[in-house]
Amino acid sequence: MNAFSRRGACPALSAPMETGDGLLVRLNPVAGGLSSKSLIGLGESALRHGNGIMEVTARGSLQIRGLTQASAQLLAMEVDTLGIAVRTGVPVETGPLAGLDPKEIADPRPLAERIRKAIEDARLAQRLGPKVSVIVDGGGRLTMNAVTADVRLAAMRTGAGTQWQVAVAGDGQTATLLGTVEEDAARDIAVAIIRMVAEKGREAHARDLTERQLTSLASWHSFAPPSVLPDISPTRGEIAPSFPLSPIAKGAEVEPPAKLPISPQVGEMSGRTEGGAVKRLPVPTRFPIGIFDLTDGRALGIGLPFGSMPAKNLIDLTQHALTLGATEIRLAPQRTLLFLGLSPTACHSLQQAAVALGFVTDAADPRTKIAACPGAPACASGRIATRDIAETIAAQNRDILDSSLTLHISGCAKGCAHPGQAALTLVGGENGAGLVVDGRAKALPTGYRAGYDAARGIDSIAAAIRKARLRGETTAACLTRLGAGGVAELYRQE
Ligand code: SF4
Repeated sequence: MNAFSRRGACPALSAPMETGDGLLVRLNPVAGGLSSKSLIGLGESALRHGNGIMEVTARGSLQIRGLTQASAQLLAMEVDTLGIAVRTGVPVETGPLAGLDPKEIADPRPLAERIRKAIEDARLAQRLGPKVSVIVDGGGRLTMNAVTADVRLAAMRTGAGTQWQVAVAGDGQTATLLGTVEEDAARDIAVAIIRMVAEKGREAHARDLTERQLTSLASWHSFAPPSVLPDISPTRGEIAPSFPLSPIAKGAEVEPPAKLPISPQVGEMSGRTEGGAVKRLPVPTRFPIGIFDLTDGRALGIGLPFGSMPAKNLIDLTQHALTLGATEIRLAPQRTLLFLGLSPTACHSLQQAAVALGFVTDAADPRTKIAACPGAPACASGRIATRDIAETIAAQNRDILDSSLTLHISGCAKGCAHPGQAALTLVGGENGAGLVVDGRAKALPTGYRAGYDAARGIDSIAAAIRKARLRGETTAACLTRLGAGGVAELYRQE
């Protein structure tokens, strides 16, 4: 077993990370899914060696906490005995229904495999930080839009057939667009981006690439043979900008995202507006909860409230799924599991069992709108009881928690459950539960309440929204109208 990872690194099975409640491991099966028996076995290992809680993260990784150095080693051995091959190297992720969804534009798995192999052949993983990742999204009903990545390839239907839109650094809405290319070019550019990031060192991400590097990425491909990657080193990651423009730079004709602001000019090829700001159309993201018809059979998506569940409940649910004939269980983004191979009657039966065990079976469940880390007392760094606060807010404010709102409840300023910006963030600190409006957990709060009383502060904001909301107005829009100062004042008021 390797030395323990530093905080913020990626806690693989071979390198658990220290947290407030012991060691944490995160694992993703190479095959994407697990058999029912493997998931039951994992749950039993979590009960034996961890704190009895299992988690599925917003990216769709499985986490087990509360381990010691010795028990983490035993867990790793048991995972091996269960025959679960765990992903190592640079994550090249595909959607949870990859290859199974009739609405998918293209099966992303072959391209993902080619990128994985190219990164491995180039021995880039050792030179990269553990959180550098690639997403290959074949489209369809469950996209990867909500998940951030250094490189994003998204299948598009274009006049020239299926092509791949290439973007860097962000989620489906915030990533910087480069353009749209054929599969071979997409593979080459993805690997070239990863190589450029590696050139910048282990702390680097694609967001650290310069505009000049992004421009050169778009322009070299039509010049170079498809199978030859650019040698970046001599120019320190920058390629001579005098190459003729590739189809990316010229802007391929594509369907839906053709409306995205990719300029035909080199200087705007990154998808930036003239003012430099990234401008993207909002991309609706469907929750992987509910029943999805597949090319063969169907999948039932079930969520873990706030991403965690007692291992015992997960074992019970999976045992029921096994008796109903589930063939595979896939980990899915947004803290969900997809059970495959079920009949319509079996889906219904498993849904009922999931409700009884406390899982989320309705995408409109208000708990899906709240990101909450384990907080106090599970995590030693936690200053507020995040999950209790979240449960109270969800139970009392269902009407306010619409899809426009991101509410983040963080035990401390680290913000593990939602590293990005949220409309409202409650963050634990020395002064109790602070409120951050339109910011991250590490921002300076604009108002405080005692931790035990934080839900009441959100109740005050919710009451004002109910009163002020215009017909058809979303919660986020109403919050904007109330203004950050007004919202902070509502939170503080007794
Ligand atoms: S954000 Fe939550 S889980 Fe992360 S360190 Fe702070 S309290 Fe612990």
